[in-house]
Amino acid sequence: MNRRARSYPTDAFVDGEWIASATGRRFEVSNPATGKVIASVADCGADETRAAIEAAEKARYAWAARPAGERSKLLERWRDLLIQQSDDLAALLTAEMGKPLAEAKGEVLYGASYLDWFAAEAKRIYGDIIPSASPNNRIVVIKQPVGVCAAITPWNFPNAMLMRKVAAALAAGCTMVAKPAEDTPLSALAAAACAEEAGIPAGVFNVVPTSRAAEVGGELTSNPLIRKISFTGSTEVGKLLLRQSADTVKKVSMELGGNAPFIIFEDADLDAAINGLMVSKYRNAGQTCVCANRIIVHNSVMDEVALRFREQVAGLRVGPGDLPGSEVGPLINEEALAKTKRLVTTAIEAGAEILIGGRCHDAGPLFYAPTILKSVSADMDVAREEIFGPVAPLIGFQSEEEAIGVADETPFGLAAYFYTKDLGRAWRVAEALDYGMVGVNEGIVSSAAAPFGGVKQSGMGREGSRYGLDDYLEIKYMLMGGLTI
Ligand code: NAP
Repeated sequence: MNRRARSYPTDAFVDGEWIASATGRRFEVSNPATGKVIASVADCGADETRAAIEAAEKARYAWAARPAGERSKLLERWRDLLIQQSDDLAALLTAEMGKPLAEAKGEVLYGASYLDWFAAEAKRIYGDIIPSASPNNRIVVIKQPVGVCAAITPWNFPNAMLMRKVAAALAAGCTMVAKPAEDTPLSALAAAACAEEAGIPAGVFNVVPTSRAAEVGGELTSNPLIRKISFTGSTEVGKLLLRQSADTVKKVSMELGGNAPFIIFEDADLDAAINGLMVSKYRNAGQTCVCANRIIVHNSVMDEVALRFREQVAGLRVGPGDLPGSEVGPLINEEALAKTKRLVTTAIEAGAEILIGGRCHDAGPLFYAPTILKSVSADMDVAREEIFGPVAPLIGFQSEEEAIGVADETPFGLAAYFYTKDLGRAWRVAEALDYGMVGVNEGIVSSAAAPFGGVKQSGMGREGSRYGLDDYLEIKYMLMGGLTI
């Protein structure tokens, strides 16, 4: 007999309590694969957000004062619960977001890996003692939690984008108020239920779902009790939040949009390159900020790459995420589908050719067929904008210098990839690319152990790794005097 799936809360989580919104308003969440409504969620506004901020402020002193080892143990307990409940959490994630179940399970475990990582890092927040210019004193540097932090997260990784913020924040001794995306609030609420079960104290982690992002975002960015905003989402909204945060001079971490180049040099191992490209491009139906967005291929191997790539894409199984074997799910909503269609249409009008796909898929209204476009030029919209759909544009190049030029010709600088067997070229190109992350002969770079983040208009700050804690810590300098007799 099938085990009944665990059910998770749909109210907001504020000060350790599950609360409806003060007005009683709720909003619906639907499954993008079927269009069916799957939940009705408390719709918070500025008042509930303020209450959550005040709860986080009240909780922060005791949380910061707790020995690091104790905070670490609670994070480990939270990690264990995510892992134990990963099948149920994955099913929930697939239902609200659409990605294939295996990817959803991978995401939950990836989210848990941040708790694992930062539970350990919590115990390694060291300071410094610096020899002073005077024999009478010593310069002491300690690191302290920033205070109450806000997290605003996107729909494409409803679990992992939140976990990598909250794990670092809580490890550092900060408390947090999180606002998940309207399309996917359920995974954040389920994560909060696990936090509660793990014994994370009331007020330390709060979740305010909303259909009124601007109202909740306005409170989070203007309330002086919030000392830091960590945002993952589009560059456009990131800029708005930066402006709004200026008046109260908040610390900010911005994980924004990308436009990843994926360069295949003439000396690359083509099998490895195409395998890397398949995961980099079609994972999450192309809806990740680090997805290959421009496939830049040396002219001498273009035909070979196109042929082999097309063969693999033809084998991709498109369907609802909960259908066994499904590899490409639906797009998140109608705007996403309309954008994908527009980028393909304008590319064709400008002279690109469809190698495969180039149309909607009959698996359902929000499905788009995995697509490859050939003869794309760098000035087409499909190469200049972040596609966020299962479309791979192929752009040819002749020299290493030209490939780097095309790759860097964008205001974005999140992830870049390239394939070569030449060691000298590997170093040269990796150092030349103006990106925060570079995969050399690798199509996926994300890991809790590595610093994730971008340069230019892809944002600021790093998540994961030992650097990820710095975003949640302030440096305090103390001059210890009176040493000489
Ligand atoms: P988005 O529209 O910017 O939304 C991201 C979050 O911001 C959501 O929670 C959204 O809420 C919220 N938001 C929207 N308007 C707001 C406002 N005025 N005030 C406060 N919050 C507001 O981005 P998206 O379309 O969901 O996500 C895709 C983007 O995220 C892509 O550009 C992708 O590259 C980027 N991304 C970046 C990374 C990274 O690490 N660099 C990782 C994943 C995704 P609602 O959903 O409720 O509107």
